[in-house]
Amino acid sequence: MAIKVGIPRGLWFYDYYPLWKTFYEYLGAEVVLSRPTNKQILDMGVKNTVDEACLPVKVFHGHVIDLKDKVDYIFVPKIMSVYEKEYICPKFCGLPEMVFHSIKDLPQLIDVEINFNKSRKNLEETIYKFGYYITRDKEKIKKAYEKALENYSNYKMKLRNGYLPIDGKFVDFNNKLDKNIRSRIAIVGHTYNMYDSYTSMNLFNKLKKDKVDITVPEMIDFEIINKYANELEKKMFWSFGRKLLGSSMYFAQVQNVDGIIYISSFGCGIDSIIQDLFERNARKQGKIPFLLLTIDEHSGEAGINTRIEAFLDMIEWRKRNEGNLSAHG
Ligand code: SF4
Repeated sequence: MAIKVGIPRGLWFYDYYPLWKTFYEYLGAEVVLSRPTNKQILDMGVKNTVDEACLPVKVFHGHVIDLKDKVDYIFVPKIMSVYEKEYICPKFCGLPEMVFHSIKDLPQLIDVEINFNKSRKNLEETIYKFGYYITRDKEKIKKAYEKALENYSNYKMKLRNGYLPIDGKFVDFNNKLDKNIRSRIAIVGHTYNMYDSYTSMNLFNKLKKDKVDITVPEMIDFEIINKYANELEKKMFWSFGRKLLGSSMYFAQVQNVDGIIYISSFGCGIDSIIQDLFERNARKQGKIPFLLLTIDEHSGEAGINTRIEAFLDMIEWRKRNEGNLSAHG
């Protein structure tokens, strides 16, 4: 019987899931996903984490619990850095320890460290370490990783073309040819806040139904994001922060969007800085309406709906009556 590797549908899931699924399946394992987020998963996560944790970390714990009795291993890597000379949120770095100390009766965690600040040799060793849970055959692990990278770049290409991974399944948001589009909105935020339809309260499908054309950072070239992020006075050394800020600046300065919605989690230190830097930039540009949606485990859908409707109405009113001039004077 194949070894079962559980992959929780949270945090890095929407960025890297296709890579690791291909990797472990090529090695002969069966990959088991947790269910899409629901109330039960959220409640289990909330119950098994400290109050201070941000919503995505709580949700992640819920997904681990959802998997723990169904698999031989749970994939919870210790992600320190995914680009040279950059870091990601400290909560990712301490995730295996947090999970290990918060949840009882776990199967073994695949908790290998990923750190692009270390040498190339170290990265090679890292890949082997991920593979050793299934096989000691180094050649096979190397091949599995090559296949995984291939699948990962196809995945990125799909996202760039407007197929977005809502709950891990592609949904076509490439509706640029639709003549009935009301407005064009950029949605910016961490992938786990945006593409988890339970925590985002189905924002994407709501906007699609409302005839709003959506654009997201995943649809922009990496080089373009970097170019705009480099306009900041200081280098942003958080990789996710650089991506969000660079793409927001690009949307505000170049793309013809009518507004930007930023989805942030309550208690996220990184978001509090990014969102503030972006808001200042948008006000300086003076032309892009900006809506901040902060979500936590108590957020109510009705309140979020009202704010989105008011935002869309304001954009339409502005187009009709202000000739798109800034409402800030
Ligand atoms: S970046 Fe923010 S939301 Fe994401 S894990 Fe870190 S604190 Fe939580």
